[in-house]
Amino acid sequence: MPSPSGDGHPAVSLPVLSAELVAAVGDGPKRTTSLYGRRTPLAAPEAQLAALDAVPIDFGPTGSGSFHADLEVSGWRGGLTPAPLEIVQVNVGKLCNMTCRHCHVDSGPDRVEENMDREGVDACLAAIDRILAHPDGASLHTVDLTGGAPELNPHFEYLVDACVARGLHVIDRCNLTILRTNRYRHLPEWLAARGVEVACSLPHYRQLGTDAQRGDGTYRKSIEALRALNAAGYGQGDPSRVLTLVTNPVGSFLAGSQGSLEREWQEALERNHGVTFDRLFALNNMPMSRYLEWLLEKGQLETYMGRLLEGFNPAAIEGLMCRNTVSVSWDGRVYDCDFNQQLEMDAAVPFTHIADFDVEAWQARTVRTARHCYGCTAGAGSSCGGATA
Ligand code: SF4
Ligand code: SF4
Repeated sequence: MPSPSGDGHPAVSLPVLSAELVAAVGDGPKRTTSLYGRRTPLAAPEAQLAALDAVPIDFGPTGSGSFHADLEVSGWRGGLTPAPLEIVQVNVGKLCNMTCRHCHVDSGPDRVEENMDREGVDACLAAIDRILAHPDGASLHTVDLTGGAPELNPHFEYLVDACVARGLHVIDRCNLTILRTNRYRHLPEWLAARGVEVACSLPHYRQLGTDAQRGDGTYRKSIEALRALNAAGYGQGDPSRVLTLVTNPVGSFLAGSQGSLEREWQEALERNHGVTFDRLFALNNMPMSRYLEWLLEKGQLETYMGRLLEGFNPAAIEGLMCRNTVSVSWDGRVYDCDFNQQLEMDAAVPFTHIADFDVEAWQARTVRTARHCYGCTAGAGSSCGGATA
């Protein structure tokens, strides 16, 4: 994780790519840089939280702009409490072959140091074993691997195999373009052989929106990768070859209706490219990290927060992913969700590392919330599993 330097900005190490990683990331879409690499003050989580807190808000359920207060008047007195634990989500690192404009992780090719090591992977596996053996942990069914581009972690295949061997459903959150790099072209077949669900991010089924958000050339590579996944048996209704597409709006709007977008996307991708997929998740962009920078640059932050507050939907709360998930960072720390992880909001439990994970303490905690949480409760709700309402 970034550590504060003496001038109050995050300490930044110069990007150093090994020859192996250069080979892996070298033919991705255009490179820009992360907030971290640019030494931007906004790279610091506290600066992001302060920017959100500075937005004047006198509307929404309580008119206070306090997510906690708005939860309380929506029937969640005392805050968000956990549901049965179903998912361990491991963010194995911030390294990515792309540098998308909306990235909430601030990932990129320069984030080479934040990668989970073998010791961390084994600590996750040991915690999973303890959870499964606990009476309150039998509800665990899924390990969700994210990043960065999780495939770039050198222990990715080891971790997938270990989770599959435990009978768990595994999700690979894939950016598609990584599957077109030489080192990772084998992955569609490799993942298919293990029944891994592939959840692929794609901003739009048209080129313009996708390349605008993710960089030139992304769309063409994404379509090629989808064809490779289809050829491996993905996206054709087989429950052991599930291909999920994940879209975020391009701009400062809320996600559209997931059901109608899914039909539109299925028709368009099949008609234009002969590509099929199983389901679409339509997520809101979270007002943090590089998307927050974009909102600030465009003078759109107040407008976007207004849209999130106006769209506050109490029915979206019950299915929030922070209620049934433990999120683990590349260095083994535990968080309520990947967003709180990126904002370095430690979970309210008496331990910080997955090696010390305690199921009872986890299930007894209250989820930590702040204004970014309005991104999850607007409209039909938004989580790694799609709409929540
Ligand atoms: S949004 Fe995904 S693909 Fe894009 S930079 Fe972030 S982690 Fe990488
Ligand atoms: S940002 Fe995280 S903690 Fe906040 S509502 Fe969303 S999932 Fe829950």
